[in-house]
Amino acid sequence: MEVRVANVRKEFDRFPALRDVSLDIKSGELIALLGPSGSGKTTLLRLIAGLERPTRGKIFFGEEDASHKSIQERNVGFVFQHYALFRHMTVADNIGFGLKVRHGPTRPSAQEIRRRASELLDLVQLSGLEKRYPAQLSGGQRQRVALARAMAIEPRVLLLDEPFGALDAQVRRELRRWLREIHDTTGHTTVFVTHDQEEALELADRVVVMSQGRIEQVGTADEIYDKPNSPFVYGFIGESSSVPVKVEDGQVWIADRPIGLSAPQAQEGQATLFFRPHDVELVDGCSGCIAGTVAASRRVAGTRRVELEIGGERQRVEIELPVDHPAAQKSRVAFRPRRWKLFPAA
Ligand code: ADP
Ligand code: MG
Repeated sequence: MEVRVANVRKEFDRFPALRDVSLDIKSGELIALLGPSGSGKTTLLRLIAGLERPTRGKIFFGEEDASHKSIQERNVGFVFQHYALFRHMTVADNIGFGLKVRHGPTRPSAQEIRRRASELLDLVQLSGLEKRYPAQLSGGQRQRVALARAMAIEPRVLLLDEPFGALDAQVRRELRRWLREIHDTTGHTTVFVTHDQEEALELADRVVVMSQGRIEQVGTADEIYDKPNSPFVYGFIGESSSVPVKVEDGQVWIADRPIGLSAPQAQEGQATLFFRPHDVELVDGCSGCIAGTVAASRRVAGTRRVELEIGGERQRVEIELPVDHPAAQKSRVAFRPRRWKLFPAA
């Protein structure tokens, strides 16, 4: 099911949790809402579910305006981080619950519900556990049951709010791959909320980066990482360094020196230069480069991160060097970003 969020604003006591958010979710895609805590991810998910009403704007399911439909009418499936299973019900009864509480002709027979529950248990790779109670499952198994329960109603959209948030890193990574496989098998239109960029970039077809109630950028993992369209996204996704600069005569300047980057298209005036610590080349001597004094150096996995103090204003940038690179022993290092981007100063 295609879902379209059109110019939605949501206020809580006049505080705007979402400001003019528009988003097209394609049928069958797995889309991740990624952003820091408080950026509005859960609010957007709850609006799509029908647990909240927009202050302004509309939400469409296909062609239909669903803005005022109830959660049942929308027929969405949910998994939350702490959405506990029913403790007094077996795994099979938990999964069948959404079907059992249906009224009239849409309610399948008890036998059919059992059959469907066992089919879903197969899908989430927990066959044989139908008679267990939630307390007899691991955290990861519980979330798999929660997903099976959400899928049991054959939802038009599957909404997952940090479903693996409470699990440890190893289990999270396993469940991430597992969820991707399930998605590829079932093809549910799925919205996945996370504040973990690795999870979002690895799992989703497209990532929606949110900040302060707004969508900053929507794109594939590659687009978001390689072509961040705002200072926020550049800083939030992956590692980055930023330096205040000036654009003059088509050149990038730090203080009164050009640093060897030409920017003929850029707007003249104050700007911020962004680059990734690993996207730099070291240079000898310095006519046109960024030079700095080594202020700190730390080992990060297979590389060394060197913090350089550049200019007089205690401005620091970080660059990455091979572990055994001689420059790491020097007190002064000069480099030039290989890939970089300028944003005009706000
Ligand atoms: P996220 O899921 O990205 O952490 P939320 O959508 O939960 O963010 O919250 C966005 C903002 O809206 C936050 O500032 C939060 O405090 C506020 N907010 C969310 N729900 C409510 C509510 N029911 N009442 C008041 N403020 C809320
Ligand atoms: Mg949240």
